[in-house]
Amino acid sequence: MYDIIILGSGPAGLTAAIYAARANKKTLIIAGDTLGGQTAEIANLENYPAFTGSGMDWIQSTLKQATGFGAEIVYASVTEIKNNESGFSVVCDNGKSFEATAVIMATGARARRLEIDGAKDLVGNGVSYCATCDGFFYSGKKVLVIGGGNSALNDALYLADLAREVQIIYRKSSFTRAEAIIRDRVAQRENIKPIFNTELKSIRKKPDSATGELIATTTDGTDIVCDGIFVAIGHEANTDYLDESVKRDDVGRIVADNLPAGLFVAGDEKSGIKMQVATAVGSGCGAAMDAISYVNTKGK
Ligand code: NAP
Repeated sequence: MYDIIILGSGPAGLTAAIYAARANKKTLIIAGDTLGGQTAEIANLENYPAFTGSGMDWIQSTLKQATGFGAEIVYASVTEIKNNESGFSVVCDNGKSFEATAVIMATGARARRLEIDGAKDLVGNGVSYCATCDGFFYSGKKVLVIGGGNSALNDALYLADLAREVQIIYRKSSFTRAEAIIRDRVAQRENIKPIFNTELKSIRKKPDSATGELIATTTDGTDIVCDGIFVAIGHEANTDYLDESVKRDDVGRIVADNLPAGLFVAGDEKSGIKMQVATAVGSGCGAAMDAISYVNTKGK
């Protein structure tokens, strides 16, 4: 039996683990299948105070801090949380269950999928949701980035160092949603070309292409030939393990105010939070402090 189980190993979960373990609570991190969540994919984390390096560097250093205080970690994904008399039972996809007095949900968010013809079938075969993972395969080639937020523009900048040409397909007329510093960097890159007021209708393989090129067709019927397509159209909360009784907001994130006693939420899956490493850290800290107080009231 643990005092506090933390679901997720991104910034919110690992910060919660530091606080929980340092408060001498028996703490388990259920990390997901891989460490770090979306932060692990950040090539250069440059807006977290007093840190320079990759997202994975930050994650590993923070995990070391948490385990240094005694937090344990297992790699599995949660499929269900059961509420019982002594607390919670967390069921994982590896068939194991773990018991705790309190649970902090910090399972974050995942990339929203592009729901157009061909997009799903071509994932891993020309369509990618991770520029830092797959960008290398497009060295010297022409790629499209879909989206107009910070993620899309950051992806375009990352890809511009590898690819010959990066076109950003955005459905609005300017990148006002993204931060000014990122917009300016994009504007300065000669091999990044925005295509505004444009949406895709379908993606397919170019039939006669020896190199596996794609044809992306826009809603007005224009065909764009490219080597790869990177999709960055926002995020959805990872809350599939919860039933309908848990209240969500209109974008599917958890509303914290009516959770059962002993169940807490932190990070990108929490309604209202700004999706940043810095805000996730603060959110994880707050959830851990609430969970520690709750465990104390149970005499643990
Ligand atoms: P986002 O800000 O929600 O932007 C999603 C973009 O995708 C929007 O431009 C949206 O268009 C577009 N979009 C959504 N659905 C679409 C569809 N079906 N087809 C085509 N385009 C579609 O998402 P994000 O860029 O992933 O960022 C998420 C959060 O993380 C934000 O708070 C962001 O600031 C933060 N973030 C910060 C940094 C950083 O360096 N500071 C880096 C990455 C992310 P519309 O604009 O028309 O709605």
